[in-house]
Amino acid sequence: CGIVGILGKGPVAEDVVDALKRLEYRGYDSAGVATLEDGHLAICRAEGKLRNLDQKLSRHPLGGHSGIGHTRWATHGKPSERNAHPHSGKKVAVVHNGIIENFRELKQELIAGGAHFLSDTDTEVVALLTDRELRAGRSPVEAVAAVLPRLKGAFALAFLFDGEDDLMIAARKGSPLAIGYGNGAMYLGSDAIALGSFTDDILYLDEGDWAVITRAGAEIRDLTGAVVQRPRVKVPAGA
Ligand code: GLU
Repeated sequence: CGIVGILGKGPVAEDVVDALKRLEYRGYDSAGVATLEDGHLAICRAEGKLRNLDQKLSRHPLGGHSGIGHTRWATHGKPSERNAHPHSGKKVAVVHNGIIENFRELKQELIAGGAHFLSDTDTEVVALLTDRELRAGRSPVEAVAAVLPRLKGAFALAFLFDGEDDLMIAARKGSPLAIGYGNGAMYLGSDAIALGSFTDDILYLDEGDWAVITRAGAEIRDLTGAVVQRPRVKVPAGA
């Protein structure tokens, strides 16, 4: 129900959870965060309130200067730790708002190809489809470009890739996403409110847009894959 992403200058796990707290008003049943610890995906998830995630993180802190986080409002699969986002393959972690309507077909296809599912969510197909492309040797941008056209439904997605400390990919179809520009840091949120304590310099993705985000900025592509420009606006802190 809420998405946050940060490519930061220092450790990000705490900031990701703080930003998720700004989205708590929307309601949620579980939460999670993924970071790149020494370049590799590390994930912590908890059922229930962000307080539970906080407690887990204080026992087992997640290092890393890049991370994505999620608060979940379950649509497919009951609220539980194993259904909480991020969902992941070996090489990618994904958080998702919305519904992947054709997930059953995609799941069958992946299972037929030997994939092993660990959750009951619609979201996990996005992680495993992307992972399959990456294992086939595609770059993260190529992998996401191949997967997005296969997804039916309304969604906002954020991807974090193993071994890619300076990269986050986001996609918007029917569910809002805002990119925040910091000073040597970049942010992503399902609502600019989530980013209010980091930056007031915001770019809203248009319907069908997806974004390749690095600490140097964001390259926005439309549905056809063409690079497009979107306006940056000032969203006052606290707004
Ligand atoms: N459909 C996904 C799930 O049930 C995402 C729900 C959400 O928007 O939080 O896990």
